[in-house]
Amino acid sequence: MATKHQVEAEGATARRNITYRLLPQKQWRWRWLEQTLEDQRQLYIAALQERQDCYRKTGRTITYFDQSKSLTECRSALPGMAKCPLYIQRGTLQRLDFAYRSFLQGKRGYPKFPGRDRWNSMALPEGVKVRDDTLVISGFGGIRIRRRGTNPHEDGRPTSAVLKREGGKWYAVVCYAVAEPERHDDGTIVGVDMNVGQVATSDRQIHYGPDTEMLEARKRRYQRMLSRRKKGSKRRERARQKLAKTARKIAMKRHDWQHRASRQIADSAHAVVVEDLKTRNMTASAKGSVEEPGRRVKQKAGLNRVILDTGWSALRRMLEYKAGRMVAINPAYTSQTCAACGVVDAASRRSQYEFRCTACGHMDNADLNAAANIRRQGLAQLRGEAAGTPGRRTANTCSAGKPGAVEKAS
Ligand SMILES: [Zn+2]
Repeated sequence: MATKHQVEAEGATARRNITYRLLPQKQWRWRWLEQTLEDQRQLYIAALQERQDCYRKTGRTITYFDQSKSLTECRSALPGMAKCPLYIQRGTLQRLDFAYRSFLQGKRGYPKFPGRDRWNSMALPEGVKVRDDTLVISGFGGIRIRRRGTNPHEDGRPTSAVLKREGGKWYAVVCYAVAEPERHDDGTIVGVDMNVGQVATSDRQIHYGPDTEMLEARKRRYQRMLSRRKKGSKRRERARQKLAKTARKIAMKRHDWQHRASRQIADSAHAVVVEDLKTRNMTASAKGSVEEPGRRVKQKAGLNRVILDTGWSALRRMLEYKAGRMVAINPAYTSQTCAACGVVDAASRRSQYEFRCTACGHMDNADLNAAANIRRQGLAQLRGEAAGTPGRRTANTCSAGKPGAVEKAS
């Protein structure tokens, strides 16, 4: 308990997720996982149904608290339901509530009735402990866990978890409350240029993205295989599993790379400057409208695929919580400006890689040149802020792990 109070007293608490492999070992544990998962799906469906019916009849939206209350009543009426720990069922209702609120805020579509193949995880908003290599789920017991490497947040306090099934295996994503080491502002600042497949920094480093070419080729092969095979056949199911496995491998490789790159960048300076890119807008524009179809749809679609694949938004999120401070600047002209003399000329950017200033002849790698410009702009913005001119600032917050957390707009 001492650590708990310590963590909360310091105020600067962050949430960090760690994924473990779950090893049920005995069949009855496995069955419990599968059964509980299915029960949660049924509960979700029932709760969604209740919300729909109520809205249709009374025009009123049921809240989480209403449903949580009726859950308690259901549990005393149905002994079968009371076998499952209450907090797991509450987690399911919270999940529905979150989906509903996202819908009402226009962020997502209307919640769907989940089919068996679409329902692969359950939330444990409380009641989890990690002891050595065991995940202790209150009301059930321990399940062995395994993770490569050590736990980087050993002093953290596990607060919640998500148990998920992926490709026939079970995982536990445990959310830890960790005390953030107080970072003092030493005035260092680094500019980051995120380009297709690579990230360049103003301290002249280029982080090349992970090499997933082989895996991508394999994925395409399985996709072709899948489309050739007959629906509902065993062979198709095998191809589907192989495809899913490859896709997961690619995602994991990328995720790992993002963590490494963001850690290195965040450690290199206190403030990290990034371009305020709206990746979503960029990727949506290529399609054009029905009346006016996008002109370079094909080329742009190709580029967009790579942009999305590089995982900018995920990298940015990681930088946001790892860096002492994050500054977002206007991305206009950062790639056309000369970092040496400041002259803006589109012709200076000779190619994807080469920058040669038309005014002063300064030559550099195009991305490194851009990173230097980004740093300068970020510096100017920070100075403007210090002088009293409000600049755009991004809050250094992390909402990971909280099922209902909504990102604050800054
Ligand atoms: Zn120049």
